[in-house]
This record gives sequence, structure tokens and C-alpha cells, in this order.
Amino acid sequence: MTDQWNKRTKAVHAGTRRSQYGEVSEAIFLTQGFVYDTAEAAEARFQALGDDEFIYARYGNPTVRMFEERIAALEGAEDAFATASGMAAVNGALVAPLKAGDHVVAARALFGSCLYILQDVLERFGVEVTLVDGADLAQWQKAMRPDTALVFFESLSNPTLELVDIAAVSRIAHAVGALVVVDNVFATPVYGQPLAQGADVVVYSATKHIDGQGRCLGGVVCGTSDFIRGTLEPYLKHTGGALSPFNAWVMLKGLETLELRVNAQTDAAEAMAQALDGHPKLRQVIYPTLKNHPQKELARAQMQRGGTVLALDVEGGQAGAFRFLNTLKIFSISNNLGDAKSLVTHPATTTHQRLSEADRRHLAITPGLVRVSLGLEDAQDLIADVLQALRAV
Ligand SMILES: *Cc1c(COP(=O)(O)O)cnc(C)c1O
Repeated sequence: MTDQWNKRTKAVHAGTRRSQYGEVSEAIFLTQGFVYDTAEAAEARFQALGDDEFIYARYGNPTVRMFEERIAALEGAEDAFATASGMAAVNGALVAPLKAGDHVVAARALFGSCLYILQDVLERFGVEVTLVDGADLAQWQKAMRPDTALVFFESLSNPTLELVDIAAVSRIAHAVGALVVVDNVFATPVYGQPLAQGADVVVYSATKHIDGQGRCLGGVVCGTSDFIRGTLEPYLKHTGGALSPFNAWVMLKGLETLELRVNAQTDAAEAMAQALDGHPKLRQVIYPTLKNHPQKELARAQMQRGGTVLALDVEGGQAGAFRFLNTLKIFSISNNLGDAKSLVTHPATTTHQRLSEADRRHLAITPGLVRVSLGLEDAQDLIADVLQALRAV
């Protein structure tokens, strides 16, 4: 039955497990463990776990399971495993399937911690990593080798909002038998369908839009039952990246309103991009579906809409960007995104500070670049705030 529901119905009902009390809102099973009626029952449960049975919260918990089943239903995935943070999800999805001697191809424009796992952890254990420009299919093609075991990219990159063509890169990767892992945080579960478009595994930082109110860390990996239970679960359940039942409950309630929030935030981002396009104090307005974006057709085909974040290249370099940030009244300076509160970040001096200047230039992270995450405030108030701050530049 769940399979036939549309996304909005799944977001509210999929995965619900009611206790004997018939509660309306999902219960928080804030328990580390579970008791068994008899020693024989404990033995049986350790031998084979039934669908409604749990052993220890590092392995699974009813509230966490509800979140996993709800997000899996939304993604059209066979199963999902929830983790303590987005990075625990990325770490699991990358480390669990790889071994020494494997080759990985990844897009260069990655979240800093993802780059750390690839270059500082996996390479140390004998995995070779090749980085490519994600938007350039010829580079993906050229980088593939017979021993390429895995391909990893952000479907929409941070902070310069470049897309990777999920269907095309998946075809290129599958030709050599590589597993395609997509970090879909910026596209959100509302606009991206990476599994339907050819990817094998999707990862989310639930900290971003899924919570959407800046409260909890969380993450999740979605894929086939074989991958989730056969490859990922053994690694994650023994290495301790489990999501707390309380945080799972926050994320579960977050999913109920995800589409409403993301659509409203995207309305604001679109209105902001239109209002600012061509502004004399801005060298560039970057938004996936804006008419000057080189991949706007791909953005419409792959995501339908442009998402909740835009990037502005402010005149006057770092000084101009700082003046702009410091003059904003509604927007807060913070490095989260997808939050109900509108947030701004200066990537060159914060999230991407550790990169060399050459790498920043390569990724088009200019000194004037500001990442803008639209919240749930009134869009006209937000636009007025940005316009008054630009006057100060
Ligand atoms: C935030 C983020 C992560 C990491 O998620 P955490 O929940 O902070 O661990 C990974 N990838 C992308 C694209 C992100 O924005």
C-alpha cells in the first residue's frame, strides 16, 4: 500500500509503528536496549532478527527504524540506515564497500569533510582517488578504470551550485561496474530522485533540510537491501555511528513538513535570484534555474526546481562581502543551511578556509562569494534586507 502513495502521504505516514497505546504522534523509544522473555527468546533473536525485533540501539531502535523506513519510502529505496550525522553516513557509504587497491573517482567540489575521508583516510588505507570537474562528462569518462570500484559526488555542489548529471555519470560508472554514491543534500529529497536517475546509493545530512530547524545532527544512507543490510549495516553497527532515538524522532517529524518547507524556501530563493539578477553591486548571482546558469536545462530536468540556496559574488572582494554580511539584519551569519532561519556564509574564510588559494580559484570560490540559505521568513522582507545591505557595499 505504502508504495502507491504519493510523496506527501509517505512523508506523513510511511514507516509508522504504533505501540499498544495507539499514540497519534510517533513515540520516542528512548532506550538503549530491549529485554527478552526467556533465555531461549534472547538466543533466537540473536540468531535471526524479526521485522519488529530489536537488540541494542547501536544496531537499531523502533524510533530510528520509523525514520529509516519513512525516508526510504520517500527516496524509492529498498532500505535505509540512519546515522549520528551526515558525515557518519558518508563515512559508512564510502568505507564499507571499499578495500585496499580499489580506485575511486569523485567530483572535486566536495564538502570539506568528504574530501578528508577520501584523501586523508581512504588513501592512507591504499585506496586511490582521482578528482574530476563534476560538470565535465569527458573528465568522468577519462578517469574511469577497470579497477574503479566507486564514484562519489554532490548532485548540486556547495557553494557554487554546479550540477552533476546523475544519469550520465551513472551510465559511465556502471560501464566499469562502479558503485554510484550521491550526496544529495543541496537538492534535498524533495527535488532529487538520484536512485530513479541511475545512482545506487544516496546519502543525506539530515542536519540540513530534514531537521530544517537547526536542532539536531543526523544522517542517512539509502540503497538496495543488499547494500544497506549486507554491506553497510555490519560496518556501521560495529563502528558506532548510530542515530540517537531522540534525534530520529526530530527528523521523523521534520519529514512530515519537509516538502512544504523546501517549496516555500525555494519560492523565496527564486524570488531573490530574480530580484538580484543584474544588481550593480553583484558580479554574479548563481542559482541553478536562473537564465545565466550554464546548466539550467539540466537543473530543470534533474531537480525540477533550483533549491533553497543561492550564491552571490559581491563587488569589492572580501571587504565587500564582509560589509554585506555585517549589514544584514534578518539573515544570521552561520554555516548551516536549509534552516527555517535565513543564513549567510562566507565560504572562502570559513567552510573552505582550509583549501589552498589555487584550489579555491579552481572551484570558483572567489573572495566576494557569499552563500545564502533562504529560510521561512517573508520573501519580500528577505529581499529588502539584502537590498539594504548591498547599498552599504
Ligand atoms: C553538512 C553536509 C554534510 C555533513 O553533514 P553533517 O550532518 O554536518 O555531518 C555532508 N555533505 C554536505 C553536502 C553537507 O552540506
